[in-house]
Amino acid sequence: MVSIKVARHAGFCFGVKKAIEIAEEVAQNNSDSTYVLGQLVHNEKVIKDLEGKGIIFVEDINEIPKNSITVLRAHGEPGTTYKILEEKSITKGKNLNDATCPLVTLVHNVAIKLKNNGYEVILYGKKNHPEAVGTSYHLKGKNTFIVEHEDDFHQAIDYIRKSNFAKIAIISQTTMSVLGYRKLIDNINSNFENKFAEIPLALKNLEIKYGFVDTICNPTKQRQSDIDELAQDCDLIIVVGGKNSSNSKELYAKAKEFGIDSYFIQSAEQLQREWLEGKEKIGVTAGASTPDYLINEVVERIRETTDS
Ligand code: SF4
Repeated sequence: MVSIKVARHAGFCFGVKKAIEIAEEVAQNNSDSTYVLGQLVHNEKVIKDLEGKGIIFVEDINEIPKNSITVLRAHGEPGTTYKILEEKSITKGKNLNDATCPLVTLVHNVAIKLKNNGYEVILYGKKNHPEAVGTSYHLKGKNTFIVEHEDDFHQAIDYIRKSNFAKIAIISQTTMSVLGYRKLIDNINSNFENKFAEIPLALKNLEIKYGFVDTICNPTKQRQSDIDELAQDCDLIIVVGGKNSSNSKELYAKAKEFGIDSYFIQSAEQLQREWLEGKEKIGVTAGASTPDYLINEVVERIRETTDS
């Protein structure tokens, strides 16, 4: 009989849970339409469920009518979003409900403090991810230097070398790979004349000239370290998550790095019988924006397929 092991921290993190609760509560308590700017969380099924509850999702801020009840997503927004909404009479305490995760706000605050203390801040993140866009707003906006992958370390070194920054700090998007971030710093340190040292998150020692701050959130770290556990004793790992979910993609990449057969799916219907053939222990995990019911459906489908 095939055994199925579900990761300890699979699925919703507290930030995503809170964002969904806020959106649901706001929609339930208001007879007027509730607008959400962008994907509240990166999961297509969750968005569909919320649309079924009357919530309207828009990608363009111009589609939000004046004076509308509005919810901002967990990933955080640049300050320009708040300004445009204010011009539409959409403000906090009135009709604006901000579901930005406190751990994203923490990264914004780290970015601001580093900048105010004379650092040129480089971001390890995905250029088009809303969180990276929001964090960049507090730095140099579109000119913020973003390094997307640990193998792109030479681009970061070139950028540092060609300018004459007094101090440089590297921070990370909350959902990046822990291992990738470590490799990026190691790669830079092995190929650059100056070494980057860790600046603790409390930012007490801001005398360091070249530093990095660990701003990957704990729920991301827990989900990534669960993959280590699954990889110890599973011969197949299934990752369940939204197509645009950065942290789900990182889980899948990490599972593949172990050389174990791994698949990234959005729902149980995508599971294929041949993936399961001959497997004895199947690990299942899910990104921070995947609801429990999708994980349970995948587990159930694996059970049905392997029992038949
Ligand atoms: S992944 Fe981390 S930063 Fe993003 S919503 Fe969850 S807890 Fe917050």
